[in-house]
Amino acid sequence: MKLTQHFSLEEMTKSQTGSRKNIDNTAPPEVVENLKALCENVLEKIRIHFGRPLSINSGYRGPALNKAIGGAKNSQHMTGQAADIEIAGMDNKILFCWIKDNMEFDQLILEFYKEGTPDSGWVHVSWNSQGNRKQVLKID
Ligand SMILES: [Zn+2]
Repeated sequence: MKLTQHFSLEEMTKSQTGSRKNIDNTAPPEVVENLKALCENVLEKIRIHFGRPLSINSGYRGPALNKAIGGAKNSQHMTGQAADIEIAGMDNKILFCWIKDNMEFDQLILEFYKEGTPDSGWVHVSWNSQGNRKQVLKID
């Protein structure tokens, strides 16, 4: 099922850990709505600006999957409001800085990025239809 032009529900809910451990990560309807809003308002705009496909490392995490990977209890991944993204061949810091300077978002985090290693880490970005905090963080 397509959520927006370039993003499918499947890629926003798939998980290697989930399939390995046979965890059902089906998104309930309210989560699908949040995922769609995230794709429309954030991911599609990044996709269009850079003209390159985004890798979704992690999108929705249902309670069982979130627990299995040790995610934060109040993670926005659990409501379908957040995604961890990368663009193949692009420095994650460039992606992070562009989003920071050009986009509306709830929370933006550059996670586990090491200076001088462009493909290290990933970018976590979230969208809250109820109101965005525009909070920017780095986690090492
Ligand atoms: Zn994340």
